[in-house]
Amino acid sequence: MYARIVVYAITICMCASCASVVPSRGETVVLVRDGKAAATIVVPGDAGGDEQKAGQMLSAYIKRLCGVALPVRDSSDGVVGVRLFVGPSDRSSPIDMSHPNHGLESASRECFAIRVRDGDVFFSGRTSAAVCYAVLSFIEDDLGVRWFAPGGLWEYLPQCDEGELTVNLKDRTVVPDTPLRKWVRHDFFDSWKQWDWRNRASTRSKRIRDRLGNQFQGVYPVESYGKTHPEYYPLVRGKRFVPPPGRLTRHMTFWPCSSNPEVATVAADFLRRWFDEDPENRRSFSLGMDDVTNICECENCRAMDQPGDFEKDQFSERNYTFVNSVAREVKKTHPNHYIGVLIYRQLRQPPVTVTRMEDNVYGFLTSNCATWWNPGTEEADKKLAQDWARRFKLPLGRYEYYGLGTFTPRFYPHTMDRQVKFDRQLGFASNHTEVCTFLPHTAPMIWAFAKLQWDASKDIDDLLGEFYAKMFGAAAPTMGEYYALLERAWNVPRPGRTRDFSNTAGQLAVSRNRNEQVLAISPKEIKAGLALLDRALEESDDPRVKKRIDIVRAALVFSQHGIETYLFNTELRTRPINSKAEVQQALADLRQYNSMAKERERFWSQSRQRDDILGETIRGLGDQMKYLIIDEFPQLDTYVSSLALAVLEWQREHDPDGLQQVQNELLNIPWTDTLDDAMSTVTLAQGGRNRLKNTGFERSAQNKNTKAAYEGVPDKWSLWIRNKPSHLNRSKVGIMPKVGRNDSRGFVYESGQGGVLMQSLRVKPGEVFLCTAWVRAVANEEAKAAGNRAADTARRANIHAIFHDAKGNVVAPDRRMYANSVFGDAIDGWQRLALSIKVPARVVSLTIMIGTHEIDAPGTSVIFDDVTLLRSKANKSQTSKPIKKADVKKPLKWNPQTVAAELNRYKPILDQFGIKDPLRWARADMESETDWAAAQSRWERRIAHWRFMLLDEEPADWARWLNLDHPALGEKAKQLKAGGKHARRKTTIWTQVITRAWAAT
Ligand SMILES: [Zn+2]
Repeated sequence: MYARIVVYAITICMCASCASVVPSRGETVVLVRDGKAAATIVVPGDAGGDEQKAGQMLSAYIKRLCGVALPVRDSSDGVVGVRLFVGPSDRSSPIDMSHPNHGLESASRECFAIRVRDGDVFFSGRTSAAVCYAVLSFIEDDLGVRWFAPGGLWEYLPQCDEGELTVNLKDRTVVPDTPLRKWVRHDFFDSWKQWDWRNRASTRSKRIRDRLGNQFQGVYPVESYGKTHPEYYPLVRGKRFVPPPGRLTRHMTFWPCSSNPEVATVAADFLRRWFDEDPENRRSFSLGMDDVTNICECENCRAMDQPGDFEKDQFSERNYTFVNSVAREVKKTHPNHYIGVLIYRQLRQPPVTVTRMEDNVYGFLTSNCATWWNPGTEEADKKLAQDWARRFKLPLGRYEYYGLGTFTPRFYPHTMDRQVKFDRQLGFASNHTEVCTFLPHTAPMIWAFAKLQWDASKDIDDLLGEFYAKMFGAAAPTMGEYYALLERAWNVPRPGRTRDFSNTAGQLAVSRNRNEQVLAISPKEIKAGLALLDRALEESDDPRVKKRIDIVRAALVFSQHGIETYLFNTELRTRPINSKAEVQQALADLRQYNSMAKERERFWSQSRQRDDILGETIRGLGDQMKYLIIDEFPQLDTYVSSLALAVLEWQREHDPDGLQQVQNELLNIPWTDTLDDAMSTVTLAQGGRNRLKNTGFERSAQNKNTKAAYEGVPDKWSLWIRNKPSHLNRSKVGIMPKVGRNDSRGFVYESGQGGVLMQSLRVKPGEVFLCTAWVRAVANEEAKAAGNRAADTARRANIHAIFHDAKGNVVAPDRRMYANSVFGDAIDGWQRLALSIKVPARVVSLTIMIGTHEIDAPGTSVIFDDVTLLRSKANKSQTSKPIKKADVKKPLKWNPQTVAAELNRYKPILDQFGIKDPLRWARADMESETDWAAAQSRWERRIAHWRFMLLDEEPADWARWLNLDHPALGEKAKQLKAGGKHARRKTTIWTQVITRAWAAT
């Protein structure tokens, strides 16, 4: 018997440039005849779990196709008839993995083969994973099964005769065109992981060259070098930036002072040690740089940059010089180990001084081919890739972003196909894709991508056509039209869409950006799409086809709700309020908006529950990844707040007698859950004191750092500028005269990387604030000539709220990135941003940040003026204002007032026991409660318990309210159970009950 290792060792090699599939004449193999198995699957007893699983799966699919399962044996002894060998066995031969075109030695570990020899079939692979690929390929390519999307509904089985199954099997040895494939964020559920395996999407065998992230903290640990060698760290604003120990936040990330030769030596020594610790598994290390903030400004480092690079935030020269010198050094001792880099953002431009990377360096080139709709982008991306390919000896890898969490259709299969084919032509060996896609819109493209990664020569239209035909049957032509419509819609260059995705601004522009996502398709195109889907539903009688179309349709309606409310929202924001009639119209529009939002929320929450790829996508991208914009309320309905504010302000100024009436009308609209808090904040915060100072930016502070700024940084605010002082000079951040509203001063961010103005104040948990700021963007002549629109830059402007606890730690109430932010919209002229802020538990301070993300359109600026932060007088539920309508919510039974009153009832009794402030826990809990509605049953339970213990107001089910098994009670628990009310009150148990056991209630 051949040992497994022997089969793997006798490597018959594939060179990547040759055709990956070498077919031969087919041979007829009978699997099932006359209702009986004519073949046996042999999975040797020593095979791994994957091979066992593949063997069972093969048998099961054959049964599903023709009604007869093939037996699965662990040995071929005594087996009569055709044998299907899964993996190496005593019958394997080196010839099973042979390939007529190859004699080299570097076959991909993903290589597999299917061979018919002496009447038997051999499924072979260089690894266990590859053996499974052979079986999966057989099920897919020879038996005709397809897995178009996760879940049984999207599986396709061809029609077969009952009790008969014969295949015409062609010998083949297959090497994937993209041997190293990594799909991330497309594995939310088991059925998704299974889909990935079945389609051989992600590489399963050990990956040798796939490290790309930022590892500098590990290479230069601050514990080792922070004190002794601060010069290894970057010089930032005249000082060495030595990061704090522990996990670094993004603003603490750094790139070392790479012009210092010792820095490269330290890296080389580190790599050697690191490789040697686990030579088998550690074959590569990343010297890649991702979103790094602190970069060296020392003279020697600056001298390595090309003129103008530093100002443009480009560091290719010094970076690739450094990587090469480390690579050269490491190669001396570790010639078979590799160093990876990420060609991204600040390092995306090919260096001028480095023409050739060392042959142990590999790179991943980031791109976003979704934006090839923008004229010129495709050509520029391709030229960049060619420039890079010339510099690398090892084949490059591609790093892509297909979905970016976009909830509207982001479907561009032909662009994807062009990129895959282009990469193949350039010999790219690997692909790392952040899939993150809204699958019901994109399933055909995602499936086709998996197929193209194995065979880039496949025709994209054939693949799409196959998907439509097999999933939609009689409705296939109409569904083809539907998907073509989605792709056309995606490729329309609508004004306001971000064109340049090569930088962070471009990335941010899509993920979690409502403007950008909404621009993926117009309401008119959605209507046309829905008409096509309705027609498709009529065309098919197959309930499974109808179900699939229903999912696709529901996904489009899901998008439609977001798009239509957003567009109405945008329209409302520019509505002027100059008369009573306009106030009335605005109130009517707000009611209408609210019903649209209600319908949207109903549909969205129903969709989230669905047991199909729509529900799974929403739960995966939303609940698991916290990536869906639809969950970030301020991003969706913000302008409704702006209109309500305008209405109230007009009333206050021009019709104060009617103010109360309008306030009541606003409060009495039965707002949706997401709007309720915001609208009551807007209404009830009116007329309060502005909690921030110098909000019109009229006073300037002495500030050394802003020589080039117009008139300095405003007093009472602190300024933080992204990255480094060069940006401060270039950006001309600062106060400027006559740019504000009414020709007052304003605060300007001009071009550059963006930044924030901050002001903090002390707050209490549960307090509610409304923060507003006026913002506009402007473009200079140069910008206009270059086609850069001010309106696009307005979208970068934002208000952001940050919370800190007493120890100064950031309190994140929510993992969602922009749950406490609001962004500007793509409009010209002044717009008001409004953010309602609820202070979470444990928080003692609130920081308001008024700022802008990176401005990628040169010549455009963002101007802020008139910031307000008002505290809402009360929550709607606690307000004593007359509210007329009967449908307004009743005040909650337990709220800070009723709980405080209740606690006061216990005080005289507790005083008798001489316990120092026994209710301090209860009070602390009460003070930190932020969601009283959700906390009602908890308070009901606690108070029932206290009433029973302290006031003899015994509920019948008192024992339910007390945790008698709580360790704090110890032996007293028995007494408590047995002793009756009187005993309970008189024992010393009180002390413990009150101070500790309550914690358990
Ligand atoms: Zn330096």
